[in-house]
Amino acid sequence: MTEHDQNIPLKPKAELSQQESILFSDLGLSKSILESIQQIGFTHPSPIQAKSIPIALSGKDLIGLAQTGSGKTAAFVLPLAEKLMHGQGLRGLILCPTREIALQTKAFLDLFGKSHDLTTVCIIGGVPMGPQVKGLKNNPDIVVATPGRLYDHMERKNISLNKIEYLVLDEADHMFDLGFLPMVEKILRKTPKERQSMMFSATLPPSVQGLMQMHLKDPQKVDVLPTGNAAVGIEHRLYLVDWKDKRNLLVKLLQKESGSTLVFIETKAEADFIFKILSNNDLPAAILHSNRTQHQRSKALSHFKDGKQRILIATDIASRGIDVPGIEHVINLDMPDNVEDYIHRAGRTARAGKSGIVSSIATFRDYGIIKKIEKHISQSLERCEIEGVKPYKELKRRR
Ligand code: AMP
Repeated sequence: MTEHDQNIPLKPKAELSQQESILFSDLGLSKSILESIQQIGFTHPSPIQAKSIPIALSGKDLIGLAQTGSGKTAAFVLPLAEKLMHGQGLRGLILCPTREIALQTKAFLDLFGKSHDLTTVCIIGGVPMGPQVKGLKNNPDIVVATPGRLYDHMERKNISLNKIEYLVLDEADHMFDLGFLPMVEKILRKTPKERQSMMFSATLPPSVQGLMQMHLKDPQKVDVLPTGNAAVGIEHRLYLVDWKDKRNLLVKLLQKESGSTLVFIETKAEADFIFKILSNNDLPAAILHSNRTQHQRSKALSHFKDGKQRILIATDIASRGIDVPGIEHVINLDMPDNVEDYIHRAGRTARAGKSGIVSSIATFRDYGIIKKIEKHISQSLERCEIEGVKPYKELKRRR
């Protein structure tokens, strides 16, 4: 699959809450952009679109709090498509945490940018530099990038950010976490201070809020996160077992629950190992982690999306931003390190209006994070057992 094969699915009404009383034509968009929206088939703006687009068009900085699946990509792509005209230099920069999100975003830019002939170059790792260098030489209007590869191009002087007028940070909480932060800050420092900036995130821990404030000027905040902390409609289950029984439990769980399932595993090596165990048990799966080539990653995702594989094994690379409708079950074979990651992983299921299950396979060592999650979602994870795997007996349950 190439980047151009990324299609833009239209969300059925029941899945994407739409602002019925508001029309795209109320938001200040021009006729040509409205026509492209109509062609794609979006009838009404989603809440994040209805609230963000007028602010973005007014030139103000913006913090958008919204989950994946809420329509946030179009919320920043449409204003960019409206404001930019082809051939005036590189004026738009969008930073994304994963290659998959970058490719999805480019697909939106290609569609909505048509009426202004906008060209977008996607700068991501895992693919050859050559075509990207060529794309950059052709005077693109927008670059959508993951930080590492973008910084490589900056060091090689393949790209200059000194004309950037519009900056978007998607999944900003992730962009500001420790792994990315130094590089993201270096990139931001190379963009003009007078730029307009928009930052979108599904969670807003205080550390991220502080960093956002440092890089934004008097931002307007738009919050369309569902009340309550995790998506509604999720059944949270907990399977407590001995460490040595975790893999066996996973196999039994996958044999029992037959729906579309995303399995999170902490390390790439363990993910590869689980992949083999599952195929030996007649449970073929797709696999997504950062040691796979971009081609393998795209193929895994598209096979999972179109139902050719019902199981996707992934590291946390898939916990954010990936738009796969209809995932019924998320399994944490390893618990995440923090509550935010649990919420992001859980958010891959029960997408707007649907229900889903999150099953965590944990040992007594995970008690700390389990308690934090239970506090955060204000409910206890339902203790579950599966036939044939000895459960770990808790001595005393709090709550
Ligand atoms: P996002 O949150 O940007 O990943 O978008 C989630 C999905 O919703 C994508 O598949 C979009 O194509 C779709 N979508 C975005 N906005 C709308 C809209 N206004 N009406 C219908 N579908 C939409």
